Amino acid sequence: MKIFDTAREAMVDLDLHQVARIYTCGITPYDAAHMGHAAVYVTFDLLQRNLARHNVVSTCVRNVTDVDDDILRKARSIGANYLDLAAREMAKFDRDMAGLGLSRPHAEPRATSAIPEILTMVGDLMDGGFAYEVDGWVYFEVAKAPNFGKVSHLPRDMMLELAAERGGNPGDLRKRDPLDFVLWQPSLPDEPAWESRFGPGRPGWHIECSALAMRELGPVVDIHGGGSDLIFPHHECEAAQTEAITGGEFVKHWMHVGMVCLDGVKMSKSLGNLVFVGDLLEHSTGEEIRLAILSHHYRSTWDWSDAVLASAEDRVRRWRDSGPGKGAFDEVSEALDNDLDTPTAIAAIERAVAEGYGVIDTVKLLGIDLEVS
Ligand SMILES: [Zn+2]
Repeated sequence: MKIFDTAREAMVDLDLHQVARIYTCGITPYDAAHMGHAAVYVTFDLLQRNLARHNVVSTCVRNVTDVDDDILRKARSIGANYLDLAAREMAKFDRDMAGLGLSRPHAEPRATSAIPEILTMVGDLMDGGFAYEVDGWVYFEVAKAPNFGKVSHLPRDMMLELAAERGGNPGDLRKRDPLDFVLWQPSLPDEPAWESRFGPGRPGWHIECSALAMRELGPVVDIHGGGSDLIFPHHECEAAQTEAITGGEFVKHWMHVGMVCLDGVKMSKSLGNLVFVGDLLEHSTGEEIRLAILSHHYRSTWDWSDAVLASAEDRVRRWRDSGPGKGAFDEVSEALDNDLDTPTAIAAIERAVAEGYGVIDTVKLLGIDLEVS
C-alpha cells in the first residue's frame, strides 16, 4: 500500500509488517466535534481498515488534550471544572464518532495522565542542553535541533507567521529565538498546577503527544497523522523534541488530512463557521456522512455543503438498491492501496452500479455497511 508522506514530500510504499503503530492527534474536549474532526478520524479509520485487508494489525493511539489554554479558558467562562468539561465533551465526541461507524482507538490517553512522563522528558531535554528555563517557563531551543523544518519544509518567515496564528507566541520576549516553544509553563492562580523542579506549572502544547506516543507505542511510530494544520508548529515541534531525546527517527511516515471549509473558509472554532457532526446525525445516517467525506480525496481541501451530503444520500440509496455483490471490488481495492484514493474508488462503484452489478459487499471496503442500516 502506498501513502503520501508529508515529510518526504512523496508517495511511499508502506513497509509494514504484522503490526503498525499509529498515532493521531486527538481533540481538546471543550466543544463539539465538527466536520474537520470527522474528516481526520474517518480517514484514519479507513487507513486501519485497509491495513487490516493486508493482514496488518494496527495499534492506534489518539490522545485527549484535557489541559491547555483553550479548555481552561472555556472552563473558566462557564464556571466549570476543566475535567468535568472534558468528561462531558469526550462523551459527546465518542457518541458522534460511533455514529459515523468508527471503531475506538486502541488507547485514548489523556494529557493529564502523562504529567510524570512529560516532566521526565522536559528534565531530559534540560539536562541534554536542548532546553532552557526563564522564570518557571521552560523552552525548547530550536537552534539545538539541526533538523528543525524536516516535517514541514517551511521557510523561516512562514514558520513565524504560522506560529503566531496557531498559539506559538513568537512575540514572547523570554525566548532566545521566536520559534522556541514552550515545554512547561507556570499556571495562573485558578489553573491546575503540578509540582516540578521548575516550580508549579502545567505542560506546553506539544510535549504531551511526544510523551504519550513514547509511553503507549515506544520511541518509533510507524504512521503519525492529523489535520494538515498540525504540520506546523505541532508536528515539527513533536519531532524535534522526541528526536533530541531518542537520537533516532521518531516517525516513519507522516500523513495529513486536508481542511474542510464552509464557503471557501476553513472551519474553525475561532471563526465559528462550524458544521457539527452531532447536528448532521439527527437527519442523516453515519454511512451518508462518511460517504460525503470520502467523496473527496483526504489530502484535498474541500467545501462542505448540503449538495455534498445530498449526493452522498443519493449514492447510498442506489448502492443499497444494487443488492449484494462485489462489483468493482478489485478496482476499489487498488484505488485504496493508492493513497486511499476514494474518489477513484467511488467512480468505479458508480460504473459498476450503472452496469447492473451489486456493490454492497464492495462498499464495505470504504467502511460503509449497507446491510445493517
Ligand atoms: Zn499531537
